[in-house]
Amino acid sequence: MSELKMPRVRFAPSPTGFLHVGGARTALFNWLYARSQGGTFVLRIEDTDQERSTEESYAAILRGMEWLGLDWDEGPRAGGDHGPYLQSERLDIYREQLDKLVASGDAYKCFCSADDLEKREQAVRDAGGNWEGYDSHCRDLTAAEVAACEAEGKACAYRLRTPTEGSTFWYDVIVDKREFQNEVLVDRVIFKADGFPTYQFAVVVDDHLMGISHVLRGDDHVSNTPFQILIYNALGWKLPKFGHMPMILGPDRKRLSKRHGATSVEEFHKLGILPAAMLNYLALLGWSPGGSGDEVLSAQAITKKFSLKKVNSSPAAFDYDKLNHINGEHIKRLSAKERLVLAKAISDEQGWALDPEWLISGADNTDAYLARVIATLGNRFSSLVTLPEQIGFFFKDDHFVDQESWDEHVATDEARPLMIALADAIETGLDLDQAQAADAFEEVIRTTAEKLGVKAGQLIHPSRVALSGQSRSAGIFEVMELMGARRTVKRLRSAAAG
Ligand code: GLU
Repeated sequence: MSELKMPRVRFAPSPTGFLHVGGARTALFNWLYARSQGGTFVLRIEDTDQERSTEESYAAILRGMEWLGLDWDEGPRAGGDHGPYLQSERLDIYREQLDKLVASGDAYKCFCSADDLEKREQAVRDAGGNWEGYDSHCRDLTAAEVAACEAEGKACAYRLRTPTEGSTFWYDVIVDKREFQNEVLVDRVIFKADGFPTYQFAVVVDDHLMGISHVLRGDDHVSNTPFQILIYNALGWKLPKFGHMPMILGPDRKRLSKRHGATSVEEFHKLGILPAAMLNYLALLGWSPGGSGDEVLSAQAITKKFSLKKVNSSPAAFDYDKLNHINGEHIKRLSAKERLVLAKAISDEQGWALDPEWLISGADNTDAYLARVIATLGNRFSSLVTLPEQIGFFFKDDHFVDQESWDEHVATDEARPLMIALADAIETGLDLDQAQAADAFEEVIRTTAEKLGVKAGQLIHPSRVALSGQSRSAGIFEVMELMGARRTVKRLRSAAAG
């Protein structure tokens, strides 16, 4: 493939809010397309709306992209041959292109104030008509009329002179052919009186000058595309390919919004979602690997399988449970070392510091002990959010207790004497000053059960809840090994007494 044929795609956020899942998915699909084709991924910041653009949002968008691992080849910080990549630094470039349109007669001066437009809109509506956004008021001003407006010092914007007949269409790479009748496309403003281009104009100028081959974006832009095509035509530029991705809905199939839960990438980060899981889940929103293949995939695997043809044209519903499931699967697939890094961050946050009295041999500090706990937990470690509840009991006595399990298994007349009997048996059968292996605890539990004429489970269930506060934990014998015989006895006795 020649250099020229390599796709160049871009993500062009407006820095007016956080990086939300819709934007992140747009960024991801562009990134995947570039990475899967050996193309170039450009990040461009569309900050021409000076009132709504903020530094904070700009920083949050870059942070979100970096967290997801969506690296850009050209753009802020990365540089590149097509910069600057902030629209506010490209004003001369837009002005130059505007001048061409003015010279060719494709752009004209408009002196209508917001107030004028509002009044005329009202009049049209009062007469039962439809107002499409503009009524061509300044389209055919004479030179003398223009001069008069200018003499009055009226603010002047520029509009594109659009064709009034025929249609504008394109073959969308995701939704197939789209066609709009030109008569419904009004002469929109391309350059505002404040000297800034509008989004419609800047996006076309930049996509062209940055050599963008595929404009892949959310389908909320479908209605902008025909107007943008008319700008390309007026400037005599070749069209890029357009692809519009379906919107993301909430579980109730209404447009995803705050009321459905987290929507910004940073919120998911705080909720303990791993970047790899977020990326994986976002990829599945509107794309599927096809076949009966596993949906839990790394960025690399998705890149290998990705194709625009498999992007779905119907809206995708955001499923929080599925995201959590995928997150759990990603945690399970981490190496022991990676899991430990995650667990250590949680341990630090929780301030876990194990009393030296309870350290076990081979794990002579809290971190080493944590490593043993995480190894024992194995695949039960599937959420960063629940981990403190899940393993806090190893580190402190005032740990999380699931009251329902406690009432059912521990606080009963049947369980109390059994726990005392087991504590006695451990005390007499095992050396409390020595580390004991899981097998040793199993042996004591089985022989005690036999002696008492009960099933081993009748000792195991209350013991598990007495030690961990929960009815689900790592293997009980391993839990006892990690707790040590002395602490196990102590917890059993205090549970039986409480
Ligand atoms: N800046 C536009 C937005 O944030 C995106 C423009 C585009 O992708 O064409 O919605």
